[in-house]
Formats: sequence, C-alpha cells, structure tokens
Amino acid sequence: MKAIRRFTVRTVLPETIAPLRGLARNLRWSWHEPTENLFAELDPRAWEAVHGDPVKLLGSLTREEIQQIAQDPELVARVRELDADLQNYLTEDHWYQRTQGPDAPAAIAYFSAEYGITSALPQYSGGLGILAGDHLKTASDMGIPVLGVGLLYQAGYFKQSLSRDGWQQETYPVLDPDELPLTLLREADGSPARITLPLPDGRALSAQIWRADVGRVPLLLLDSNIPDNDDAARNVTDRLYGGGSDHRLRQELLLGMGGIRALRVHSRLTGAPTPEVYHCNEGHAGFLGIERIQELMHPCDGTTPMTWDEALAAVRAATVFTTHTPVPAGIDRFERAQVEHFLAAGPTPDVPVERVLELGAETYPGGDPGKFNMAVMGLRLAQRANGVAQLHGAVSRSMFQGLWQGFDADEVPISSVTNGVHVPSWIDPVVWDLAVEPQENDLDPAARWRRIHEVPDAELWAARRLLRERLVVDVRERLRASWKKRGAADAELGWTESVLDPDVLTIGFARRVPTYKRLTLMLRDPQRLKRLLLDPQRPVQLVVAGKSHPADEMGKRMIQDLVRFTDDPEVRHRIVFLPNYDIAMARVLFPGCDVWLNNPLRPLEACGTSGMKAAINGGLNLSVLDGWWDEMYDGQNGWAIPTADSKASTDERDDVEAAALYELIEGHVAPRFYGDGSEGTTPPFRSDAPEPTAGAVPHQWLAMVRHTLATLGPRVSSRRMLTDYVQQLYVPACVSGRRAAADDGAAARATAHWIQRVREAWPRVRVEHVEAQGVQQEPQIGDELGVNAYVDLGSLAPEDVTVQVGYGRVTESDHIHERSHAVLEPVTDLGAGRVLFCGPVTIDRSGPFGYTVRVLPRHPELADPAELALVCNAAD
Ligand SMILES: *Cc1c(COP(=O)(O)O)cnc(C)c1O
Repeated sequence: MKAIRRFTVRTVLPETIAPLRGLARNLRWSWHEPTENLFAELDPRAWEAVHGDPVKLLGSLTREEIQQIAQDPELVARVRELDADLQNYLTEDHWYQRTQGPDAPAAIAYFSAEYGITSALPQYSGGLGILAGDHLKTASDMGIPVLGVGLLYQAGYFKQSLSRDGWQQETYPVLDPDELPLTLLREADGSPARITLPLPDGRALSAQIWRADVGRVPLLLLDSNIPDNDDAARNVTDRLYGGGSDHRLRQELLLGMGGIRALRVHSRLTGAPTPEVYHCNEGHAGFLGIERIQELMHPCDGTTPMTWDEALAAVRAATVFTTHTPVPAGIDRFERAQVEHFLAAGPTPDVPVERVLELGAETYPGGDPGKFNMAVMGLRLAQRANGVAQLHGAVSRSMFQGLWQGFDADEVPISSVTNGVHVPSWIDPVVWDLAVEPQENDLDPAARWRRIHEVPDAELWAARRLLRERLVVDVRERLRASWKKRGAADAELGWTESVLDPDVLTIGFARRVPTYKRLTLMLRDPQRLKRLLLDPQRPVQLVVAGKSHPADEMGKRMIQDLVRFTDDPEVRHRIVFLPNYDIAMARVLFPGCDVWLNNPLRPLEACGTSGMKAAINGGLNLSVLDGWWDEMYDGQNGWAIPTADSKASTDERDDVEAAALYELIEGHVAPRFYGDGSEGTTPPFRSDAPEPTAGAVPHQWLAMVRHTLATLGPRVSSRRMLTDYVQQLYVPACVSGRRAAADDGAAARATAHWIQRVREAWPRVRVEHVEAQGVQQEPQIGDELGVNAYVDLGSLAPEDVTVQVGYGRVTESDHIHERSHAVLEPVTDLGAGRVLFCGPVTIDRSGPFGYTVRVLPRHPELADPAELALVCNAAD
C-alpha cells in the first residue's frame, strides 16, 4: 500500500525524560560522547537502524519503550545530568569571553554553501562543507558568537554505490526536514517565517528558514520547497551542486541575498544580535555583500541612505572573504548577461546593476569580459581576504595578482589562515582518553597534548591495534554490503570475512576524486603495487574511498580502474574500495589507518584536512608537500613524497612521483612499522608464522606517532584556526566596520569620497625624477643614500599618499627581491601639484643592490597599502 498523505507525529516525552528532546535537537551530541552514548544505549538496535540519529531514534520508540525509559531511575538521572551539562555549556564563559576585549564582535555571520556537521544532517559534499561544520562547532566550543547561514538541500549530496563493473552509481534519497534535527523559524502567529526574492518574468522565489543548533551556534538554512513557490522555485534547493548554471545562480542569490534577509528575520524573532562581521566562505555566498549594500542604500532603521560607493566602503570594512580554490578552473563563474538578467528583476532595487557587474568583472589580462566571477566579486567586496594554508595563500596571491596590477605577487592583500579540524568530532575516544588532557588551557593550548609522552609504548601500540581492528571489521561489513548491491550472492562472499588483517600496516586514501588528487597514482605500476601488498615479510594493506562529481566522467573512470584492481582475487584481501565516503565512514577510517596517503598534483591542494584527522588519531602522513603538509611536515611526523619539476608533463610527473611513493613505502614506511632492525628482531610479521606476532612493539614507529600527536595536535586543531580568524580577521574587521558605521556612517562616507577623489586623480600622479646623494665609488654596507623624489601629485595633497623607496638585492633582470621599504617625507612644495619627497636609505646588504620609488594612496581606513590596487611606480 502506498500512502497518499504523510505527516510526522511528534513523540511526547514524559516529564522525567523531557530534556531528551533538547539533547537530541542540539547537535552538540554529535561531538559530546556521553550524550551520544546515552542515545545509543536507550535502544542499541534502533540506534543502529536509524544510523545514529537521536531525533529519528526518539521518533522510532513505541509508547511502551518510552514509558520504560521514563521509569528507569538510572536513565532519568543521566538525562538530567546531561541536560544540566548542556545548559552549562550553552551559557557559561568560554575562551572568547575569557580572552577577548571590547573590540571583539558581538556576532559574526558565516556563510557557506555546504555544512558537514553530522551524518544526521547530510548537507555537504566534501572538504569545504566539513570545514564549515568544524568552524561552527569550534566557534561554539570557544564561545565565539558565530551565526551560520546556508541552504537546506532536499537531497543533500548523492549517495554513491557501484555497478557490477565498478562504475559509480548515484542516488539522491530525499530528506524530510521534519525528521531532521531542525526547528522551523515561525512568526508570532505560528506561520512559518519567509523571505522572498523577485525573479525575472514577474516570478518570485520564497524560502522558509530552518534552524539547526550547533551547540551555541545557530545555523539558518533556507528551504525553497514550499507551496508558495512554483515548481521551478521549489526546486532551487533540490541538491547540492546540481543542475545547470541558471540553477546554480538562483541558489547563490538565495544563499547570499536571502541569507542576509534570513538573518534579519531571525534577529527580529529571537533578539539575536546583529552581526558586526560577515565571513563569506568561498565565492558562492558573495551576493550577501550586494544585499547589505542595498540595506545601506535604502535603510529602514532611520539612518541616512548611502550612495553605492559609501555603502560599498561600509560593507567592505566588515567583510572577510576566504578563497579555497587554487586553480582558475575551479572558480565559480557565470555569464555576465545571466547575472544582469536576474538582477534586473530587482532583488536589490536600489543597487545599480552596472556597478554589481563591475564587481564581478575579470578586468585583468586573460580575463573574459563576458564572465561574472564570484571569487573576484568576493575579493572586491571584502576588505580582508585569506587563503587556507600558507602555500595556498602564496598561490592565491599569484592567481589573483592581475587584480592588483603594478604590485609584486607577495604584496597582493590575501593572507592565509591554515585550516584545522574539530578535535572532539574527529578524534577517536580511545585516543582522546589515552592521550589528551580534557581541560583546555587558554594560555598554552599545546599543554593538553603533552600527556602522550607519559603513555607507555605497549599501551599506545595496543590502542593503535584496537583502532585498526575496528576498521577491519567495518571494512568487511561495508565490502559485503557493497558486493550485494553489485549483485553478488551471499554464497560468493565468504572471502569478505577475511579481507584485511588487523596486524598489517594499513594505508588509507579517501577524498573526492577530481583529477588533481590522483586517486589512481598508486596504480601507475600495478605489478609494483602488487608486490607491496603481497610482500611476505612486510605486507601493506590499502583502504580507498571517494566520490566523483556526477558530471566528471574522468573521475568515474579512475574509480572504475581502482575498483577493477581491487576486484582481483590475488590482491582483494589487501586492497579495498569502499563506496559512499562520508562522515560516518571517516570516523572509523581515520583512526584505523597507520598511514594517511595524499598525492595531489602540487600545488593544487588548497589545504586538505583529512591528513589532519589522521594525525590527531596517531596516523602518520605520507604526502606530497602540498597544502597544510607543506608547512607542517618536519621530518619526524611522517614522510614527504618528492615531487617532480612542475614543468614536466603530467605523465612524467606521475611516473616520477609514483616511483618515489613505492620506494618510500618499501624502503622507509614498512620497515619502520614492522620494526626496522633497531629493535634487534626480525620483522614481527611473517605470513608463514602460525600466529601473527603482533606483540612486538615498533618503538621508532611509536616515537613518530607520539611526536605527531604532541606537535601536530595543537597545530591542526580548529581551535588554533579559530584563534587565528578571531585575531587576524574578525577583530580587525569589527573595528573597521564599527568605525565605518559610527555617526550615521560618517567615516564610510568620508572614506568613499576620499577613494573617489583619489581614483579620479590617480592617472595624473607621476614620479617625475629620482636622484640619490651619497653613492660612493665603491658602496659598502652601512652607507647611507639620500633619496630625492620629484612627484607630480596632480590634485592630491601630500597627506593623501605615501612615497616609498623600495630597495634590496636585485636579480640580473633588475627585479628587486628581499625588498625593504623606506618612507620619504614631503620636503618642498614646488607648486602646481609638484612636491619634493626626501629621505635616507641605508645599504644593508652586499651584492647587486637596487632601488626604486613608488607612490601609494594613504588613508587610515585602508587595511593594506595595496588595497585600492592603485600604485604609481617610477619609470626609468
Ligand atoms: C575531512 C573530510 C573531507 C576532506 O578531506 P580532504 O583532505 O580535504 O580532501 C572530505 N570528506 C569527508 C567525509 C571528510 O571527513
């Protein structure tokens, strides 16, 4: 029978256990083990059936079961205790309250197109979403007043399975929001709160707003699947990264513009503070800045309307933009005409469409005048921008250098904050209990990780084995389930029960499957890989997982190649591909692997976080020096796969780097894992031995594990990441934003007028002539030069500019590197806008030395000298 109507019946809980509802609805259970355990123990079988989802669990209990729980004094006491703990967590002072002063923002809005918080709320595709989830959880733990904004996708991202011949199959199970840990935002009269955007052709796009509680952090998710909308509008939030570019644009307008409106509705209904800083996580949410400009151009709070330029200055001051994309091809772009078409419908009626189009224009060499670039708009709408690892910061500065013509790449105002991972979510309780001090230390965050030094080798080794064994058990179950989906009968699957071995060196590799991540690099020389897997003394086993974007045939082919290799009866007990990589799998996989492998085409991995999750569980990284590993590899915490010259062809690079990978595993990783001779024994594992000799403890291996936990633990923790964001970006943006908005926006107005005046005057600014006094026949270190620069400022005043000497060692082509700067002071007004600037420069290094002079705009509200992309360099 098929139902023609459905609705969700709310479970009514007796008073003694009523707090269970709140414990289930606040997602903090997903990183608070005692709460999670409570739910699991209420009904272990049901817990498994609902895949560890407390809201669904409560919904699945019968009245009798609920009565039983309510009458169990032990359970009732635990519920009360955990509820008290949660209330404490939600209200007490944390790091932010203890360490931050009055300059810290009262609230920060964080916008992202995806969030990976728990498998119970599957709204992510990969690293970007997991990072956003970790950002919110960590903000909650640290008491940072973040509010998240995103979309609620009816089907989230796809579920992956395999066909018989190893081809990726995608399904999109539809989620019922009533069964998710979400609360619908309602008006006082009980009707769902709504926001609406006009669409072309007189249509409209409305959305309701769900709230997920991520500990202390509210996450607002817009949902267009409501009866007010026509079918097309209802489907705007159907899937994450699905559909064509018009669809994508509608999603992004809803996320950015609708997201700001949702924040306002939420504040009105709950009294939540208005954000003082807006953080745009990747370009997708960039339209949030346009909506905020609209608010300032047409205010409804009694302030004086601003012009476009004034509003732009005010909005930029309080906005942070994070880029995650190291390749131009990965950037979100639309047709300019397409964006114009949607904006013409008037979602932001006071905003001049032409100006918005300018913000997204690729006005640099190689840019396409027909395109609207979301990252470019993101950078222009934010006074502060960052990449997600040091190397990625450098890559981003080069990639976007065209927007700052006249500046060297290292001067491009994009900084970096290296990503981190939310430790309580990703560390296995076994490791947590063994190695980590539960108490935070605000002044010395590394202190809690030092406890690992007191753990005896035997105990650490036993813990590692336990985690490996759990992974093996999980792999066997998953593999069997996968083969049944692929059409195998139970009778054919006996072999899956002995797949993998809890005493064999286990290497993990799991990630999305874009080409640059090179899923199949390990297959470069299949015979060599086979030898490694089947080595009688020091065998290796590999667990591989990853989803390919549904439209990426190349990625699917790579998966198929890999699956076919793993299907070979000769090796299938040592290498497996697990379909449907997700948070649930990851939580068993990271702790269970001894080595985490990553071999992207350098430098295309922006940061990568899976290796961090392995590290906090005592896994050692074996990785190309890309992303985070480039800055954190220290020679003792894992291995660096050498990379070929980036000028070599991809094929050559694959050859060289695959060979290096095999050699590292064979010559370094495996010997150390199995005891490298210094233990005075033969390798403990022998396939012909009657019992695997798992007892032998590889002390050198464990020294690396211990070093990894103690030194990487604090550095890869997202507490370090959030501390960086607060100190380097949120507090400065809050200070700028408040100054801009003070006195009815007086500073923003003044800054905007100054910027306009400088931009108009700039084409006339010229360094006419430079001379130096005191250059000796044979200059020496310590000599001082007196530099005189004759500058035509046109209509600008000397205080509008900085005149700098840039000096240092020069290359053969006269490029100054190892640059220093000295400021020249205005000395003589020569009339008609001409001013003589003078100052000393001390020669501080030997060898070829050169100097030059340049003029930069100067204003107290500029966060960086390159900010306006205006510079006048002296010509020779
Ligand atoms: C951590 C994680 C990712 C991201 O890993 P990268 O190393 O950034 O590729 C993707 N998916 C899941 C399920 C994860 O846990």
